[in-house]
Amino acid sequence: MLEQRKVTEAIIRQTIENINPHNLQSNIYRLAIISGGQPFMDGALKGRSGCYEVSALTLSDQEIRARKEVGAIFQENGIPKKDIYEHPMAVFGMLRSKNPGAPTLVIGSHTDTVQKGGAFDGRAGISMMLEMLRVLKEQGIELNINILFTAFSGEESAAFGTAFLGSRALVGEITDDILDQGPPGGKTFRQVLKERGIKPDDLKTPFLTETNFGSIIGFVEGHIEQADGMRIDGVSLQVNEAIAGANRQKVVLETNLTQKKDFKNVGFLKVTAQGRANHSGSTMMNNPDRKDGLVIMSYLLENLEPLQKILTEQGLNVKLTASSIKIDGQAMSKIPGRTEIILGVDGDDPDQVEHALKQLDQLVKEQNERLQGINHKEGIFLVAESLQDQVSVPIYESTGILSAYSDVSKIIRKVKQTFFGLAKENAVGTVTTFDIKDGKTILQIDMRGVSEKRDEGVEEVIEEIEKISAQSKIESKIDQVPGSSNPVVLDHEFADQFIEVAKQYGLGQAKRSYSPAGHDAGVIAASKNITNSRKPIPTALFFIPSEGGSHNPSEYTSPEDMKIGCQALTAFVMETSSKY
Ligand SMILES: [Zn+2]
Repeated sequence: MLEQRKVTEAIIRQTIENINPHNLQSNIYRLAIISGGQPFMDGALKGRSGCYEVSALTLSDQEIRARKEVGAIFQENGIPKKDIYEHPMAVFGMLRSKNPGAPTLVIGSHTDTVQKGGAFDGRAGISMMLEMLRVLKEQGIELNINILFTAFSGEESAAFGTAFLGSRALVGEITDDILDQGPPGGKTFRQVLKERGIKPDDLKTPFLTETNFGSIIGFVEGHIEQADGMRIDGVSLQVNEAIAGANRQKVVLETNLTQKKDFKNVGFLKVTAQGRANHSGSTMMNNPDRKDGLVIMSYLLENLEPLQKILTEQGLNVKLTASSIKIDGQAMSKIPGRTEIILGVDGDDPDQVEHALKQLDQLVKEQNERLQGINHKEGIFLVAESLQDQVSVPIYESTGILSAYSDVSKIIRKVKQTFFGLAKENAVGTVTTFDIKDGKTILQIDMRGVSEKRDEGVEEVIEEIEKISAQSKIESKIDQVPGSSNPVVLDHEFADQFIEVAKQYGLGQAKRSYSPAGHDAGVIAASKNITNSRKPIPTALFFIPSEGGSHNPSEYTSPEDMKIGCQALTAFVMETSSKY
């Protein structure tokens, strides 16, 4: 090892030149493999290799193994065991300065992934901090500050329905509401914690505090971007000045739907809306990639009740009916992709049923033409196919389900229209999930933005839902989903410093922007529980490019792109150190 050296610009240059892209890549592989990840090959990758499919949901064996591995890598790089801290939702490694009373800079990212996610979301940030640790040790750099390396769990909402569980726990913001959340039919966060031998109430006490770690000067998170934009624009580093907040509302309509049991002569039609799943936060309202299956379906839904009226006026003794809407792999943070519904016609006379089915089919075609007219470039459409046999899904009684779908289509369109109007404000709004449970119709709406305009949009949507339910004399309950978050402004000086570092050390093109998706950095930046003065700590969040977007196995960041991110991070840390 070299002699311990003071930090100068020349030393920073020399240090960041020694950042090794192979190590950045092998950290990714090591974590993917320990989490049971499988190499992912797909035609869409166009021969590119290096992708893994990883399912490391929060507190799963796969996720916990990854966290333990990060702890092991801390030790391999010279952090003594006494400076490795295990928290139920995170692992920490403290690189101590020899400077007595040195303040601490916290750096972190997350180990958990969504179900069938990739190897880079969260873990690219971890890989960069691990390579920074290695190079600082190898080059014998003596910093004037401590660095607290952190690997969080629970960033994704995929496991329990609430995001940022690790960072929330570290700042003492876990509530009973959050503990009692879980996937439909699955275990709650509280239950899984208990099974892991963790006392759920322990997570209500802040851990990342000045009381535990001494004076804290800030937090830095590096992450992949959520959509493949930077690579296309030739940007190597995106420095975020704000993080959008997610306001999530659950709408329960007391529709009292009952299942239709007796059919006379019934025919069914399956209609599929060809939407495309995507991140509901980072896919802007005017982005041509926003192909929302539920919005497409709403064109049909709004016309079912009127069609029934027409059929009755024609003297046909038939009843239209329908199943629940099924969204493929629906999730709170996902734009509905492929969305399906089964429509039925029942009546005494088979000829009349046949005639009505034809009109239903015609209605689908008409709506399809309407959609093509509006979105001709987007290639979104409805497909109808007649079903010969009885269907296996519940079909609901006519009057209830038709009027429920009238209301639902109005809500879907109101959300879209309101947030489309706020596109310039970078606000987005999506009805992301649909369920019928105990006769009730349940929607969840994900609304995000960086300004207070988002809240005006939320209010407008809520008012409209109340109006719609009053008009149809159906009671509605609208509740904010636990874990909603406010927009967060990040630290200007940290952002400036990242931009300067990129310029000074020739790290490609850096741009300022904001993060449409939430991150742990947002929880940390907003918390008043960390410092003794109860002032929030300065926080930075930077992105590196991601080919293939995120939340899917084709996400990919090249070793060279990770190297630039790691160089920026390392130079930022060394420059910060020299101020103390
Ligand atoms: Zn992430």
